[in-house]
Amino acid sequence: MEFARPLPTYLITRYHGWKATQYNENKAWYRRLAEDGQHPRAMVISCCDSRVHVTSIFGAETGEFFIHRNIANLVPPYEPDGDHHGTSAAIEYAVAALKVPHIIVMGHSSCGGVLGCHSMCTGTAPELEKETSFVGRWMDILRPGFERIKDLPDTAEQISALEREGVVVSLENLMTFPFIREAVENETLSLHGLWNDISGGGLESYDGKTGKFEPI
Ligand SMILES: [Zn+2]
Repeated sequence: MEFARPLPTYLITRYHGWKATQYNENKAWYRRLAEDGQHPRAMVISCCDSRVHVTSIFGAETGEFFIHRNIANLVPPYEPDGDHHGTSAAIEYAVAALKVPHIIVMGHSSCGGVLGCHSMCTGTAPELEKETSFVGRWMDILRPGFERIKDLPDTAEQISALEREGVVVSLENLMTFPFIREAVENETLSLHGLWNDISGGGLESYDGKTGKFEPI
């Protein structure tokens, strides 16, 4: 595969730095992780956005979180149709094989995916409505969320609410997976919704009873 190239130098330098310090100081921990296998404390579903730094926010160590990232931290509905489903595969592995006790869905401010969904639903992004747009078809998952916020008076308010709706829709869709519903009903698994304010460093938690996000 002649298209693959060596890493840029700055990454090679950083890697060697990590190996000489962090790895070297925690060798035993890495060996234990390799020998005992992983036992993550939670699965986290967050956006691909480079500003969302889940491990940093929670001070997580290697081996603590089973993380899946996709555009706008969305969970599709349960669709056992034999097709390629990356997000559903990660969820299935986390719950059925690793038996994680928590799934955390984390949305965030200034989400480009959510903004795209808002533009698409308000008719200002025809490129996203094309059948061939992977982002557009992925963001279709959030259309039911748009229906719930579309009557808010202000566009910025709608977009901010849609970011939180992405979390709620994903939690709803998680419950359409039979093995998740079963684990939740047996109380071996709990679902959590969060929204992270990148600029202010704030974190809001979804309250299933009130249907509102409250600051932590
Ligand atoms: Zn995002």
